[in-house]
Amino acid sequence: MAGIPPPIREPELKYTQIFIKNEFVNSVSGKTFPTVNPANAKKICDVQEGDKADIDIAVAAAKEAFKIGSKWRTMDASKRGSLLLKLADLIERDAQQLASLETLDNGKPYMTAFFEVLFSAGVVRYYAGWADKVHGKTIPVDGDYWCFTKHEPVGVCGQIIPWNYPVPMFVWKIAPALAAGCTLVVKPAEQTPLTALYCASLCKEAGIPSGVLNVVPGYGPTAGAALTGHADVNKVAFTGSTEIGQLILQAAGQSNLKRTTLELGGKSPNVIFADCDLDSAVKEAQEGVMVNAGQCCVAGSRTFVQEEIYDKFIEATKKLAEERKVGDPYDLQTYYGPQIDEEQFNKIMDLIQAGQKEGARLVTGGGRLGDQGYFIKPTVFADVKDNMRIAKEEIFGPVQNIIKFKTMEEVIERANDTTYGLGAAVFTNDLNKAMTFAQAVQAGSVWINCYNVVRIQAPFGGFKMSGIGREFNIPSSPAYGVFISQLIRYARAST
Ligand code: NAD
Repeated sequence: MAGIPPPIREPELKYTQIFIKNEFVNSVSGKTFPTVNPANAKKICDVQEGDKADIDIAVAAAKEAFKIGSKWRTMDASKRGSLLLKLADLIERDAQQLASLETLDNGKPYMTAFFEVLFSAGVVRYYAGWADKVHGKTIPVDGDYWCFTKHEPVGVCGQIIPWNYPVPMFVWKIAPALAAGCTLVVKPAEQTPLTALYCASLCKEAGIPSGVLNVVPGYGPTAGAALTGHADVNKVAFTGSTEIGQLILQAAGQSNLKRTTLELGGKSPNVIFADCDLDSAVKEAQEGVMVNAGQCCVAGSRTFVQEEIYDKFIEATKKLAEERKVGDPYDLQTYYGPQIDEEQFNKIMDLIQAGQKEGARLVTGGGRLGDQGYFIKPTVFADVKDNMRIAKEEIFGPVQNIIKFKTMEEVIERANDTTYGLGAAVFTNDLNKAMTFAQAVQAGSVWINCYNVVRIQAPFGGFKMSGIGREFNIPSSPAYGVFISQLIRYARAST
């Protein structure tokens, strides 16, 4: 595509160590762990493996950097904003390098990775603007007094991120916390440590003072657990599975009652009424579940289709799935690449088999693609029933489940019959239907005639077991409170 630099198939591997106090260092234990290219299952390199001892050093560095009178605490808020602006520029400057590295480590198509890097620069810029615009209130309390509020940075933040969107997740966590004046210890996912470490070097280059941002790669039960259980960590922000989210909440409760933001899994319903624009609904519904090889927390993994258009919808969905180009992530035409690792690949294949055993109709796909790496064919099931495993469990793979429904009342009940509540969508040309559904569905984001529109200016997060708290939009940043809001995004008629 015009204007996009070509991918670098063998990007330089500059940063593979732990980042503490603006220096790259080896782990205390001397241990390393391999990071693997999911497109061919081969090791890319070894990375220093942080565990409790390294987390302790990183937390101490972050605590020191947060001390009253420190360079960071005395820095003007506007200066914090300008450092973030510089960071955004550096992320954009190195977009080709970062995107190429992401494609290698994560397997996502280079084009997708490139746009995610640009999106990430935008996230950093958005929060840069907020740094000196966080205001308190004056309150007319009773009596001969006056009262004011002041927002304070919460302190040392532990930030644990997943592998599905490594660069966006990194900035999504660090930018609001830095804008607010917090100090950080980030633990990237063990599957994708390379871009977080590269971004750490950019934070140093941008001028973020020593100790303010530390990055400790390592495994969840060791490094991650040490961070969540640490008594000197004031807040943990986590994105990942609901299962681990529950462990994090327990660890927060058992240690120091640290504040916790959780962005967890989903089983999001996408409801297609018969009066929709069919072509657009078919395309958006499939995109909504297969984007990023299905490895997306808001994936619309339950496609409810009204009976009048059910057969037509399946036919068009099958055709579209069979046209998808899956394969080499460095090829600019590739729609999606491999799954992240063997464990995820096996989990998805197991669920595909469960779908077949439980009686769902396999419309297309259902198997491995090629003989190396972790590629799965675009897979579509029809006649899926609500009690099947594929309709209940988060698959996190390129598997679309089509479920028939008749009426609004019925579909609302079935859409809400899940422990999750992250995203939901409705496709219809009847505004009354759209608004009725949007208000009844239990989901943090509701899309009307569109899917997966995530924008920095609006809050993002889940109902029920999809999480606690909101990200994006300043009042819900890691430094601040928890707001529950339901966000309804309406696509204009042209979509
Ligand atoms: P996970 O929840 O295990 O990992 C996410 C992050 O948490 C990683 O950095 C991991 O190292 C860390 N972690 C793991 N155990 C921990 C612990 N005990 N304490 C602290 N941190 C810990 O996710 P996964 O194993 O990579 O994937 C499993 C499933 O999670 C997927 O199939 C998918 O359903 C879901 N998932 C959801 C998201 C999302 O964006 N909501 C992202 C990734 C995975």
